[in-house]
Amino acid sequence: MKSFTYERPATPAAAAAAVSRTPNAKFIAGGTNLLDLMKLQIETPAHLVDVNGLGLDTIEPTPEGGLRVGALVRNTDLAADARVRKGYGVLSRALLAGASGQLRNKATTAGNLLQRTRCPYFYDTAQACNKRRPGSGCSALDGISRQLAVIGASQACIATYPGDMAVAMRVLDATVETVDAKGGSRTIPMAEFHRLPGDEPEVDTTLRPGELITAVTLPRPVAGTHIYRKVRDRASYAYALVSVAAIIGKDGSGRVAFGGVAPRPWRVEAAEGDLPRGAKAVTDRVFSGAAPTRDNAYKLTLAERTLGAVLTEARA
Ligand code: SF4
Repeated sequence: MKSFTYERPATPAAAAAAVSRTPNAKFIAGGTNLLDLMKLQIETPAHLVDVNGLGLDTIEPTPEGGLRVGALVRNTDLAADARVRKGYGVLSRALLAGASGQLRNKATTAGNLLQRTRCPYFYDTAQACNKRRPGSGCSALDGISRQLAVIGASQACIATYPGDMAVAMRVLDATVETVDAKGGSRTIPMAEFHRLPGDEPEVDTTLRPGELITAVTLPRPVAGTHIYRKVRDRASYAYALVSVAAIIGKDGSGRVAFGGVAPRPWRVEAAEGDLPRGAKAVTDRVFSGAAPTRDNAYKLTLAERTLGAVLTEARA
């Protein structure tokens, strides 16, 4: 690991200011992804700004009937919160499908959103990777790509966003709250938070330099059966090949988002009207324009079948 300097600021704005004024600085909270990346020298920050003391660790009701989840709420605590389990079951289930108990005890809400891809070439510093070293090329294009994206990718990068929590937050229409170095705040809809790679795959989100996530707001609960189904290579501690976050009403209508298939949680609202017609009708539209590789075309069939299983479970 390369040496770095370290500070613990007192306020969110001070933390944002510290990262903004220091070249090659990064926030650190749970560190469950960043420390691994630093040990592998994939990330080499010169300065770490520890946000753990900022008090952003509560879950509060909003005047609109939703919940405001502090950026530092640990994944374990968010999944176990009685209000989350009752009104946002899809979120609780998605959280429990991710990582391991030990990691969920450390990982934070904001850090979960900011976790980086698990493309194997991103983690191998001997390989070309535009996301790790812009302009170096993409080893996955002619390499092993069975885990990678089938839609939303570009010729520069075909990596997926690996998380589960954000897929549920996408189906819940959550919004991300931030603060900047001058103390200004803004909200970013989850639909706009993760960006597609285009020709800048090194930039994962629409956060501005130095901008700090302070909370995620969930709108009031959506009625229906909340399901998160994750298909992976082994039963635990593995990333999704395909996942489905869904809220399905008694009449078969509802919402659905997919994980493991694209550089961001993948939801096509225009296709949701087809949910009562069955999985194929939906996935035909959701994955219209998909460009799978030879290795990962199976994901299109898997997504249809996983959604089919979700709809069967909802009916039952
Ligand atoms: Fe890097 Fe993206 Fe290519 Fe993977 S798919 S090697 S992360 S550029």
